[in-house]
Amino acid sequence: MSFDPTPVFARIEARREELVALTRDLVQIPTINPPGENYTDCARFVGDRLKRHGFDVRYVRAEGSIGDSNRYPRTNLIARWESGRPGPCVHFNSHIDVVEVGSGWRHDPFAATVLDGRIYGRGTCDMKGGLAASIIAVESLIEQHSELIGNLEISATADEESGGYGGVAYLCEEGWFSRSRVDHVIIPEPLNQDRVCLGHRGVWWAQIETHGRIAHGSMPFLGDSAIRHMSAVLAAFERDLFPRLKEKRTTMPVVPDGARESTLNINSLHGGQGESFDGLPTSIVADSCRMIIDRRFLIEEELGEVKNEVRQLLESLRTERPKFNYTLKDLFEVVPTITTERDAPVVRSVAAAIEYVLGKPADFVVSPGTYDQKHIDRIGRLKDCIAYGPGILDLAHQPDEYVVIDDMLDSAKVMALATHELLHTNR
Ligand SMILES: [Zn+2]
Repeated sequence: MSFDPTPVFARIEARREELVALTRDLVQIPTINPPGENYTDCARFVGDRLKRHGFDVRYVRAEGSIGDSNRYPRTNLIARWESGRPGPCVHFNSHIDVVEVGSGWRHDPFAATVLDGRIYGRGTCDMKGGLAASIIAVESLIEQHSELIGNLEISATADEESGGYGGVAYLCEEGWFSRSRVDHVIIPEPLNQDRVCLGHRGVWWAQIETHGRIAHGSMPFLGDSAIRHMSAVLAAFERDLFPRLKEKRTTMPVVPDGARESTLNINSLHGGQGESFDGLPTSIVADSCRMIIDRRFLIEEELGEVKNEVRQLLESLRTERPKFNYTLKDLFEVVPTITTERDAPVVRSVAAAIEYVLGKPADFVVSPGTYDQKHIDRIGRLKDCIAYGPGILDLAHQPDEYVVIDDMLDSAKVMALATHELLHTNR
C-alpha cells in the first residue's frame, strides 16, 4: 500500500448516518419492475445529488426498448466526474429496479426500517445499498484526494431484473459503455463485501406448451386435456431430468454451493381457463397448457445440449403417449461467462482492497444468476468488469430483505481504496 488510506476511511465512517439516509431515500422510491415504476424519480434523485458533487449528469431514456412507454419510461442516469488530468475511467453501475414485494414480510417493504444495524426493505440488498455505498465511496475519495487522475462515472440503470434491455444493454448499444469512455467497471450487486464476482452461470428460459382439444367438461373423453399432457411432462421432469441435473457439478466457483449443480426452476404454469376472471368457470377441457422453465447451466455444458435434454424428453413423450403434442419456444438465453481474468486491473485492485480493509484474502466467486455484466462484456466489449458490493446474496428477492450498515461501510472503503489504486499516477 503506497499511501495512507486512513483519512479517506475516516471520511467514509463519518458519513455513516448520511449513507443510511441515502439508502433509505432510495428504497422509499418504489421502483418495482415490472412494470418499471418511478424510474425517472429515482434516477433524478441520484442525478441531483451527484450534480451537487460536481458530476456532469445525463439522462438517457431507452426509447423503444421492451416495456418503455410514456407512463413507464426506461430512464437511465449516467453521471461523470473528470479530474482534468488524463487517465482511465472507473465506472460504478447499479440497477435501480427492484422485484415485486411478494408475501411474508414483517417489515413495511418501502419504509426502509433501521433495526439492529440493518436496513430492511425491498431493494436494500439488491441493490440500492450497493448504489449508496458506491456514491459515498466516490464522493469521499474525490473530496480527500485532489490528485486523482482520469475520470469517475456512476450510472443508475433500469430493468436489470428483466434482462437489462431498457438499461445497460441500451446504453452499451449507444456507446456509453465502450473502450473510448470506460476502462474499469464495478457493479455493486450483493455478492457479499468480501467477494469478487468474476462471472455467472448460463441461463435458458423457454416456454413449453402442450396442446389438446376443447370439449365439454362433463364429457372429457370427447376432448383431449392439455393439462394432463403437461402433467406427463412434469412427471418426466421429476423422474428423469431433475436427478440428471443434480449430478452435474461445475468447477466454476459458484456461490451458494447449491448453485454448483445445474438447476431448473418452473417459473410458471398456466392451463385451461384464465385466472383474471373471478366468476364461476365454464365447463371445458383445456386445449392449452403453458409452462415457463428457467434453466441455469454450467460452463461445462453447451447451450445446444441443454436445450436437447428437454427436447428429447418431450420427443420421447410424443412417441410414448397418445395424442401428445407440444411446442417449445426459446424466450431468452445467455451463455455462462468468466470473462474477467484474475490478474485484470479491477480484479487485482478490489481483491487487494478487500484484504486491506477486512484483513482476509478475497474470495473469487461466480454468480448463480446473470446480471448486467453480460451486456458490458458482449455489447460494450469491456472485459475489465466485476461485480462487487455489500449485501448477502441469499437475501436478494426474499421477504424481509435487508442490508447490514457495517457491510456497506466496509464495501465503501474497499471501493474507495480500489478506485484510488486505479486512478493514481504512482500505480
Ligand atoms: Zn441485482
